Amino acid sequence: MAGSITLTMIKPLAVQKGFTGPILAKIAEGGFKIIAMKYTRLSVNQARKFYEVHKDRPFYDSLVNSMTSGPIVAAILEKENAVQAWRDYIGATNPANAAPGTIRALYGTSLEANAVHGSDSDENAIIEGDFFFSKMERF
Ligand code: UDP
Ligand code: MG
Repeated sequence: MAGSITLTMIKPLAVQKGFTGPILAKIAEGGFKIIAMKYTRLSVNQARKFYEVHKDRPFYDSLVNSMTSGPIVAAILEKENAVQAWRDYIGATNPANAAPGTIRALYGTSLEANAVHGSDSDENAIIEGDFFFSKMERF
């Protein structure tokens, strides 16, 4: 039975530090199926749009700056209860508070550069998946 989906990004600093391979290995190890994946770089406008929900937060401009600082890997992941399963698997937003062994604990550098994104709801997972991927890019 197909599960639900979530959207992840391997953030620029994690890519730059060479953590793409280890994070993809963790994705497989966690039983998440890759439905779509691409190596790309967000423009400032794209990053502002993706994080629009945070536009009034003090960290917004800095977040947009860091998310556009280099290439990312974006992927749609499928698993039963994918949104919550992925959030549990990556750990808390701040790597300093993320449980040992989680992706953010292992590969995060700071609250901002916390290695990976995870959708916060099924509804946003669909919106975020559509942001990056067409039907033809999904398998
Ligand atoms: N972020 C930040 N400062 C904060 C809170 C969040 O730089 O005080 C960044 C961090 O990269 C985080 C992203 O903004 O992943 C989105 O924040 P959110 O609260 O949605 O956390 P997430 O859902 O990614 O755990
Ligand atoms: Mg969020």
